[in-house]
Amino acid sequence: MRRPPIPRQLRRDVLVEAGHRCAIPTCRQPTVEIAHIIPWEKVKKHTFDNLIALCPNCHRRVHKGEIDRKALKQYKANLSILNGRYCDIERRVLSYFAEHPHESQIKLPGGLDIFLMYLLKDGYLKKIQGQENVFVWAGNFGPQWYELTPKGRKFIQKWLSGKKLS
Ligand SMILES: [Zn+2]
Repeated sequence: MRRPPIPRQLRRDVLVEAGHRCAIPTCRQPTVEIAHIIPWEKVKKHTFDNLIALCPNCHRRVHKGEIDRKALKQYKANLSILNGRYCDIERRVLSYFAEHPHESQIKLPGGLDIFLMYLLKDGYLKKIQGQENVFVWAGNFGPQWYELTPKGRKFIQKWLSGKKLS
C-alpha cells in the first residue's frame, strides 16, 4: 500500500496542538515535521492520536530508537492536558520556568490574573507583593511579580521528563 499524504487539516491540527514547535518539552524547536508515534508501516493510516510534531533532529532520534514510542505517547498526552487546562499565557509562563530552572520568579504586567487563573488556582503560581505595587491604585496596573511554587516546579519537572501529568 502506498503511503498517502497526510491531509492538510490533520497536519494543521497536529501542528497547532504542539504550538508549531517540537513536542518534546526539552526541545521545542520551531522547525517541525509530522511524525507517526506507531510507525506508518504498522498502522497504514494517518490519525490525529498517532501523529505528533517533532523537529527533524528529534524525528531522527525516534527512528534511531533514542526516543521511544511510549515516551512520544506521553508527550502527546501531556500536550493535550496542558492545552486543555491552561491558556497560552499560562503555557508560556510554564515554558519560561522550564527554560530557566534556576529562576523562581517572573515579573509580568499587572492585570493578568485572569489569564493566570488556573495556574494560581492549581497552586503552581502565586502572587508576590513587590514594592512596585505600593503606588498603584485600581485601574492603574503596575507590574506584578509571580512566584513558582514547589508544587509548580514539580509539575514542570514531570512535564519535562515525560511523566504523566495529573
Ligand atoms: Zn525536537
